[in-house]
Amino acid sequence: MSSMKGKRLKSSKSYSADRMWKPDIFLHPAEFKPTRGAVNGGASSSPAQHCAYCAGEPVIYNPYSSQHLCEKHFCEGVERRFKLTIRTHKMLSKNDHIGIALSGGKDSSVMLHLFRMLSKSLPLKLTAITIDEGIKGYRPHTLAVAKKEAKRLRVPLIVSSFEKEYGFSLDRAVAVSKKAALPCSFCGVFRRHLLNRAAKKAGVKKLAIGHNLDDMAQTFLMNVFRNDTAHISRMMAFEGAPANRGFVPRIRPLMDIPEKEIALYSVLKGIPIHFQQCPYATTALRQKVRDMLNSFEDSQPGTKIRVAKSALEISRLLPAASAASLRECKECGEPSSSEYCMACRMVEGLREKMGRAKHAGIGKSEKMGKAPKARQRKK
Ligand code: SF4
Ligand code: ZN
Repeated sequence: MSSMKGKRLKSSKSYSADRMWKPDIFLHPAEFKPTRGAVNGGASSSPAQHCAYCAGEPVIYNPYSSQHLCEKHFCEGVERRFKLTIRTHKMLSKNDHIGIALSGGKDSSVMLHLFRMLSKSLPLKLTAITIDEGIKGYRPHTLAVAKKEAKRLRVPLIVSSFEKEYGFSLDRAVAVSKKAALPCSFCGVFRRHLLNRAAKKAGVKKLAIGHNLDDMAQTFLMNVFRNDTAHISRMMAFEGAPANRGFVPRIRPLMDIPEKEIALYSVLKGIPIHFQQCPYATTALRQKVRDMLNSFEDSQPGTKIRVAKSALEISRLLPAASAASLRECKECGEPSSSEYCMACRMVEGLREKMGRAKHAGIGKSEKMGKAPKARQRKK
C-alpha cells in the first residue's frame, strides 16, 4: 500500500498511454482503459487520438460514454456533475452549514476539495468531521491525511473517536466478538451514530457523505440481497427535508461520479490521499458485490450508472417507508426505530463481552471499563 503523496501530475502534457496512472490498489484493473491505440472493452473501434472536446491528449477513456477526455475536460466534467447533483436534488440552501464526513480517503477528500471550491462562490459554512474507529495500522495514517488536508483548506475539523465515546476501539470490539459479527457491522453503526452526534453538536445543517456512484450501486444491491427494503427507501431521504427529530439530513453529492473518476481527479488535482484499504474491508459483503459490479461494468459499460439510477427510482417509489418516523433512543437521545438505538444496544453487548474477556484475562493491555458518554440505560 502506498501513499499518493508526491505523485502530483502537473498537466495533460505529462501523460502518455503507458504512463497512465492505474490505482490498482482499490480499483478493478479492467476499469482503466488505455487512451491510445487499441481500446479494450469494445466500446470504440477507432484508436483514440484526442479528447472528445478538444485536441488535447486524453487522460481517461470512459466506455460508458465512449469518450476520451483530456485533463481539463475531465476535471470540468467531475466538477459539473458535483454541482449538478447538488442542484438536481436540492441538497443545499442559502447560508448552509455543511458537515463533511472526512475519512482521509479519496472520496471524502475530493468532496472536501469540491465543497471548498464551491464555498468561494456560495455562502457556505464548512466543518469537517472525522471518526477515529481505532483500526491499528490504518486509521492513524488516514487521520493524519485528514487533519493535514483540513488545515490546508482552512476547514475546521472535529475528530470523534470510538475509544473516547464508547470506551473501546473497533479492533477491541472485533477481538471480543470473534465471529459473532463482522467488523463492518459495528463500524457502520457506530460511525453513523457518532457522525450524527458530532454534526448536531457542531450545529451542522446537512451532513455530506462521500458516497460515489459505485457505492450507491453496491449499497442498493447489498440491500436487495438482504431484502432490506427499508434501507432502499432511505437512499433518497435527502430529497426534501427529512422531518425526523435529531437526524441531520445526509447528502451525497458524489453519487453520480464513478469511483475511478474520483480517484483520477484526486491525482490530477494533487489532493493528498492515503490509498490504503481498511484491513477489515475484505471481510465485507461489499467487496464481493463490488467485484461483481466491476465484472459487469467491464463487459457491459454503464451497468453501475443504471443500477444506481434504479436504486434512486425504486427508493422514490417507497414513500411510506421513507417517511417512517424515528423516535429518540432512551439512552443516548439519537434517532432510533426502537426504544434503544442499535449503537447503544451494540455498545451494551460488547461491554458485557469485554467484562467477561477481562475476567478471563484476555486483552489486559486494552483500555477498558470506561463508561460510554451516552446516558446509562434506565432500568
Ligand atoms: Fe469500517 Fe468496514 Fe469500512 Fe473498515 S471496511 S472502515 S471496518 S466499514
Ligand atoms: Zn442510543
